[in-house]
Amino acid sequence: MGIIRAENVHYDYVQYTDEGQEPVISHAITGVSLEVQKGQFIAVLGHNGSGKSTLAKHLNALLVPTEGTVWIDGRNTADENEVWNVRQTAGMVFQNPDNQIVASVVEEDVGFGPENIGVPTEEIWKRVDDSLQKTGMTAYRKHSPNRLSGGQKQRVAIAGVMAMKPSCIVLDEPTAMLDPNGRREVLEAVRELNQKEGVTVILITHNMEEVIAADLVFVMDYGRIEMQGTPREIFSQVEKLQELRLDVPAVTLLAHELKSAGVRLPEGILTTEELIRGLETCQFD
Ligand code: ADP
Ligand code: MG
Repeated sequence: MGIIRAENVHYDYVQYTDEGQEPVISHAITGVSLEVQKGQFIAVLGHNGSGKSTLAKHLNALLVPTEGTVWIDGRNTADENEVWNVRQTAGMVFQNPDNQIVASVVEEDVGFGPENIGVPTEEIWKRVDDSLQKTGMTAYRKHSPNRLSGGQKQRVAIAGVMAMKPSCIVLDEPTAMLDPNGRREVLEAVRELNQKEGVTVILITHNMEEVIAADLVFVMDYGRIEMQGTPREIFSQVEKLQELRLDVPAVTLLAHELKSAGVRLPEGILTTEELIRGLETCQFD
């Protein structure tokens, strides 16, 4: 069984308003089944409100399904006795780095999680050293997190999650508030954890560069997974993506239009280099 498995998951938010009034129900997840293998790098795309954050919160038992089941490393997230094991297996990083800082010194911030679950002091420092190194933040260990750039703050947040030794990390639009430099730093750190440490990554993002880095892409719409495939398979389906109200990378769109106009290019061109290579070798109808 994969490290993450969901079977026919539904989730309804129920908002109670005034007494006597019917509650407002929003069907945020409407029948999601998926499986993620250990070590995979998954990108999740989808229009606003498509259910990405709700799905992410199911992966570390912040939410449990209204219907259906989620297993993390074989543990049912709805089993109350498993909540801490589930959270230790799947760590979460959120969009706003400022909301994730808990201490006034970077190394203390990173050590907070393991300290909280009673990891022995010596082991905490080992984990802090290790996590700071893996996220490239060792030089900042004595700094105040508040004075770091957005990208550095997110790397501290990722180091904090890594110090819990999770086998899986779920990042919900971690670069949405960052500048291009910050985005690059965070993507680099996430990639390293995936490739060198074998950490399973679920990355919710709108950023093309981040999607291309993934092994597999899930595209969500109206609480369902509407498309699933490699980045190239996904971006080969320009019309379908547009139907799902998603941006298509400019270079992919250009290649698609050239193709419709009779230029024999391969589908799913993802980078400018690929387009140039394609144009150099292509034939015209
Ligand atoms: P995404 O992350 O893709 O933007 P969300 O998972 O945040 O989507 O939201 C999915 C749906 O659930 C949306 O229709 C949204 O309005 C609704 N929703 C999200 N959070 C809540 C909440 N706390 N209470 C009620 N409805 C919510
Ligand atoms: Mg969201």
